Amino acid sequence: MNFDWTAEDLDFKSRVAALFDSESVTALEGLERAELPELKATTGMFLRRLSETGYLSLGMGPEAASETLRLMAGQEEVALFSGSLFLAVETTARLFGGLLKGFGEPEQVRDILEPLFRGEIVAAVAMSEPAGNEPGTSRTSAREDGDSFVVNGRKSFASNGPIADYIAVTGEVDGLLAVFLVEPRMEGVAVGTRLQTLGYNGVAVSSLDLTAVRVPRSRVLGPFRDAKPLEWLRQIDNLVLSVASVGLMHRTLAEARRHASGHVRDGKAVGKHQEVRFKLAEMLTLAQTAQLLAYRTAWLHATAADEAPTLIHCAKVFSAEASERVASLAMQIAAGDAYVSGNVVERGYRDAKYAAIAGTTSELARMSIAQDLLNLHRV
Ligand SMILES: Cc1cc2nc3c(=O)[nH]c(=O)nc-3n(C[C@H](O)[C@H](O)[C@H](O)COP(=O)(O)OP(=O)(O)OC[C@H]3O[C@@H](n4cnc5c(N)ncnc54)[C@H](O)[C@@H]3O)c2cc1C
Repeated sequence: MNFDWTAEDLDFKSRVAALFDSESVTALEGLERAELPELKATTGMFLRRLSETGYLSLGMGPEAASETLRLMAGQEEVALFSGSLFLAVETTARLFGGLLKGFGEPEQVRDILEPLFRGEIVAAVAMSEPAGNEPGTSRTSAREDGDSFVVNGRKSFASNGPIADYIAVTGEVDGLLAVFLVEPRMEGVAVGTRLQTLGYNGVAVSSLDLTAVRVPRSRVLGPFRDAKPLEWLRQIDNLVLSVASVGLMHRTLAEARRHASGHVRDGKAVGKHQEVRFKLAEMLTLAQTAQLLAYRTAWLHATAADEAPTLIHCAKVFSAEASERVASLAMQIAAGDAYVSGNVVERGYRDAKYAAIAGTTSELARMSIAQDLLNLHRV
């Protein structure tokens, strides 16, 4: 693969970066403490601005593979400035939008996708948990009744849940995978109160309960003969979490570097000490390695390479764990300043844990990597 940005890629990257002036960054930092109406308004404002750059629909058309690096260029910019905004945007555009675009009938999803790509909709995706102790089953299921499906189910966590206009819920119909497009206003849909989380506090997360929700046939994707839509969702979720981790590393590294150069102790900038320099060197090495692996993985995914699912897990595990290490080293360097609530490093330190437990957990990803290595790929 060619890692070079084209002139158009660089132009796109700078147009995305230009959205994040100091006023915008202040607004984004305020998302952590924002009430839901303000959170929805700010998220919506950035979705509309991003839509003007073409960001929201990038990588979803017939040219998807060739747009991969350009998309990554833009994603990096958003992830660098705000991890929370990045997750909220990617859940709406890449996960929800990509699911509808890739697996819905065009006439079925057009009235949702058009406003979504204009940045007018916030969306959530709830991949249902297994029912009881039965692997491969779903806690959400439905039966057909006339021209509707009657859906019952529960999901413990849905990012964007409390501010979503639409929620795509995976479930099963007679043992087959289906995706139900529900709206919070539908009878039987109960979006839980916003959960207080350790990190990524600018993303509103809630549970979701569905009790005998009547979803019209026209709002159901599938039933599908295989689990491809769910596998696709998991892969994109893991890719997004990898890029979020890369953004987090660059953000906390920049703050640690600034502190190392500018903070003087006993007449000397702390960055003059070898102990501090070694930490900075390790941080940059981890961030750069994770970034390169994320590029390669996104490319393999876009070109449907056989090893893409394995590499997605490798990238997710590496970037998640590297971001915990980098955030921890940044905290050590920026010390007291970083420990104060609201500091970039303090926020990054709290955010960092998320990537290892969200999406495919590091344990399950490692099991999958080893299985693929032994059964599918030659080294
Ligand atoms: C803030 C937040 C937001 C979220 N947002 C969304 C969302 O928008 N949409 C969505 O679909 N989901 C969302 N999730 C769910 C998230 O993807 C899951 O939390 C994640 O998949 C982990 O699931 P769990 O907490 O149920 O862990 P569990 O699956 O219960 O695992 C618990 C622990 O046991 C380990 N473990 C489990 N099974 C095995 C095994 N077979 N072998 C070895 N170890 C094992 C795990 O690795 C983990 O360490 C969100 C979660 C959080 C916390």
